[in-house]
Amino acid sequence: MTLLKVENLVKHFPVRINFVKALFTRERKKVHAVNGVSFEIEEGQTLGLVGESGSGKTTTGRLILKLEEPTAGRIFFAGKEITSLGAEEMRRLRREMQIIFQDPLASLNPYMRIGEAVRHPLVIHSIGENKRRQREMVIEMLERVNLRPAEEFYNRFPRQISGGQRQRVVIARALITRPKFVVADEAVAMLDVSVRSQLLKLMMDLKHEFNLTYLFITHDLATTKYICDRIAVMYLGRIVEEGSFKDIYTDPKHPYTRALISAVPEPDPKAGEKKKKLIPAGEVPNPIDPPSGCPFHPRCPYAKEVCKTAPPKLKELESGRRVACYLYS
Ligand code: SF4
Repeated sequence: MTLLKVENLVKHFPVRINFVKALFTRERKKVHAVNGVSFEIEEGQTLGLVGESGSGKTTTGRLILKLEEPTAGRIFFAGKEITSLGAEEMRRLRREMQIIFQDPLASLNPYMRIGEAVRHPLVIHSIGENKRRQREMVIEMLERVNLRPAEEFYNRFPRQISGGQRQRVVIARALITRPKFVVADEAVAMLDVSVRSQLLKLMMDLKHEFNLTYLFITHDLATTKYICDRIAVMYLGRIVEEGSFKDIYTDPKHPYTRALISAVPEPDPKAGEKKKKLIPAGEVPNPIDPPSGCPFHPRCPYAKEVCKTAPPKLKELESGRRVACYLYS
């Protein structure tokens, strides 16, 4: 069953200019953050949304949770359209749709004890008969994310624990309402490599235990190995390729995906020496003034004339495999 579906999602942000400049120019520039993104996630699956900084992946996650209003497009959750739900309806739905942010320190109130931070969503959504029951639920969840002894962690403040432990608290807070869907936005990006793999393993265990569906947003393709069933690669506000994790890794089609895969470090250093790195030249273009045609053409070694005129459509090559590139038209 499809749990989440987005159709032609668009988000343009107005560029702020100063008052004097605004008097002399009629042109109002926009940041083209998301430019017609469509995908589906099956219940119990993890879709990795991968791309460099500025690709629009974080904005896509925020649009889905209605933390930003889309400029255009439609969002469906569990078969119901949620695009134009009001604040109150959305507040109720957030019990089932949660987010884990990149920086646990910034997402936790430094003056709130950890147990109270994890209990807070239970209070907001009136879950648990009374405070004692809510406390029991928090203790169980702290234990489940391996913050033991849980009673001790309950009374600590965020600054009194490590970065990895703080992210476990954020995960506990996200899962305490037993959501169906979780957006993990660069959830392990700020952690050391060893802590990162422990957290990814925990997220996988919790996914199976609670039948979670994840949208796993990351700039680091290597981390998708541990957790993703499918991968969608974003570039300058568009999905350029989507497929199963295996297809994307073993047979990347789009030149940008090939470049990303070539940059993933090899666990075997000897294999890494042989692997040719295809890092694209130059920077991601400015989303205020994106290139005409295929957004990747200024950096693409295979660009032809047609690539500069019209953006290629995302076409299905085979079941479950989509690519936006004139090499496959
Ligand atoms: Fe390169 Fe053209 Fe394909 Fe874009 S459409 S990725 S420029 S070959």
